[in-house]
Amino acid sequence: MPQYKAPLRDIRFLVHNVLDFPAHYSACGHAEVGADLIDPVLEEAARFCENVLAPTYRDGDETGTHMVNGRVVTPDSYKGAWQALTEAQWGAISCDPTFGGQGLPHSLGMIFHDMAESANQPWCALFTLTQGAIRAIEAHADDALKEKYLPKMVSGEWTGTMMLTESHAGSDLGLLRTRAEPAEDGSYRITGEKIFITWSDQDLTDNIIHLVLAKLPGAPAGPKGISLFLVPQVMVDDNGDLGARNSVQVAKIEEKMGLKSSPTGVINLDGAVGWLVGKPHNGLAAMFTMMNSARLDVAFEGLGLAELSRQGAVEYARERLQMRAPSGAVYPDKSADPIIVHPDVRRMLLTQKALVEGCRMLGYFTAMQLDVALHGEGEAQQKADQLVALLTPICKGFFTERGSEVADLGVQCFGGHGYIREHGMEQIVRDVRITRIYEGTNGIQAIDLMRRKVIGSDRRLLDALLAEINSFCNANRKHAVAGDLVAAAENVAAEWLALTDKLIEGGRLDPALPMSAAFEYLEYSGYACLAWCWARMAVTAADMLAGGQGDAVFLQAKLDTARFYMARVLPRTESLKISMLAGPETLSALTDEQFFMA
Ligand SMILES: Cc1cc2nc3c(=O)[nH]c(=O)nc-3n(C[C@H](O)[C@H](O)[C@H](O)COP(=O)(O)OP(=O)(O)OC[C@H]3O[C@@H](n4cnc5c(N)ncnc54)[C@H](O)[C@@H]3O)c2cc1C
Repeated sequence: MPQYKAPLRDIRFLVHNVLDFPAHYSACGHAEVGADLIDPVLEEAARFCENVLAPTYRDGDETGTHMVNGRVVTPDSYKGAWQALTEAQWGAISCDPTFGGQGLPHSLGMIFHDMAESANQPWCALFTLTQGAIRAIEAHADDALKEKYLPKMVSGEWTGTMMLTESHAGSDLGLLRTRAEPAEDGSYRITGEKIFITWSDQDLTDNIIHLVLAKLPGAPAGPKGISLFLVPQVMVDDNGDLGARNSVQVAKIEEKMGLKSSPTGVINLDGAVGWLVGKPHNGLAAMFTMMNSARLDVAFEGLGLAELSRQGAVEYARERLQMRAPSGAVYPDKSADPIIVHPDVRRMLLTQKALVEGCRMLGYFTAMQLDVALHGEGEAQQKADQLVALLTPICKGFFTERGSEVADLGVQCFGGHGYIREHGMEQIVRDVRITRIYEGTNGIQAIDLMRRKVIGSDRRLLDALLAEINSFCNANRKHAVAGDLVAAAENVAAEWLALTDKLIEGGRLDPALPMSAAFEYLEYSGYACLAWCWARMAVTAADMLAGGQGDAVFLQAKLDTARFYMARVLPRTESLKISMLAGPETLSALTDEQFFMA
């Protein structure tokens, strides 16, 4: 298993030099969060993730979870890690101080999350689902529910889940059948079967707070008839003491391709006691608070696992000796050169580096927008809201697709030694695969981006991002060192706009056109965003080099990686553009029956 080392130099470069988090915090009401607070948080997060969490990743995969007497048993190492997380209060970092949180900006919590996903992604889902549930309860529950449940969730004494999926209702939640009957005391009795529920049971805490989607009697059909309920695993009395178990039973946990230590349960709710969160029939909107946050969390899962695979591949490529470099021996004293000298291995390592560091920059930029969207005011908040809405499906879809690609390249760098279990590279491929499926498959993210965010806003959300990109390009087009990289970002942004207009316009005549292009459009959008991110990083690196600031070797590598990205990764947009504009005809040519012909 690669030994995870938090990429603190890269993180600090983004936080201090490219994105200037201290100035951003000052502008959004967190002037107290300066470099003197940020740096110790980053270092402590790195220590926790490297020393406490990372050593449990392999054990989780090997031990897995199992059921004893109807309850899920987790690996022993997980208990210590959860205890350490609770003691260090990592879950409280960006929660509301009214309920015991530290009230720090959301983006700072996201950086912890970035590292934690690399250290142990299946374990981390317990943490992120709890954070998502806290946010949904904070935003939509009444005061009594907040006071009763939030303090123990914020402290990590209780965890949270998200119960949406049913066997016949996955992407289409409007089909769900779980029902909620009102009781005389103002609570509800909830009955139904949920499937695929992550961390729906565990032996790490003494209560689990489930957020469940269900339908009230007489609810309208489809998504508009869904309500959200808080259902505790163990009942809590008015003094906060635990009572009897609620009627929430784990029927089984699934055997899976990866994520072996993250229990995925089939749950029977048999008249379980629950309370309405938010308004009746408004559950999907309320759950979207959790789902949007969970979508960004899943984006960071893709990024975190990509970082881990990248680290493993680089270490191995430096050690593994095979053949000589094309231009002759680079290490003549050794029996062969390390594989890092071979152009094809460098292609893989640089692709990993360009994708991981580019996605990290875009992820951190999005997290900053979330700070303003959540706590800002007026025009600034409105703009940040637009950017988060647009960037959420792009980050979720693009980071997880690239996460799979980077993890796959990691195995390839190891050759046969990547395919066997010994080095842990195959575990990363298995674990990252789910990120393209849950929290809405990437096909659904693409539809969300195209239909709701781009066409639905009449391009306004994209205009908000392009204004940001163009203002950077206008200011840096003539940059002495990185001007050509800025021009590449500017060109792809202009093409992105033109393509969008073509798809919107074409969609007015034939609605199938934009939908047939949706997945390629999401991919294209990701590459265009990364071009802007790499141009920004290159300009900062070049300016720092010119000013004699920072670590010259690190900064030069940034510049060179930016050049690699523009020359060898960004051209993927060309083929995406051609596919997008090919139109829907080739997709609809075959009849359904023709797929079945042998
Ligand atoms: C390990 C794991 C953990 C999970 N954790 C949770 C959890 O904690 N809570 C929870 O509620 N759920 C959870 N899920 C469920 C997950 O969110 C769903 O599996 C996912 O949303 C897809 O639903 P589905 O599996 O029913 O696929 P389907 O919706 O049946 O989709 C099948 C295929 O059809 C495509 N498709 C469907 N509709 C359209 C359309 N309109 N246009 C284009 N393509 C379409 C999809 O993209 C997909 O490729 C988990 C699943 C797994 C495997």
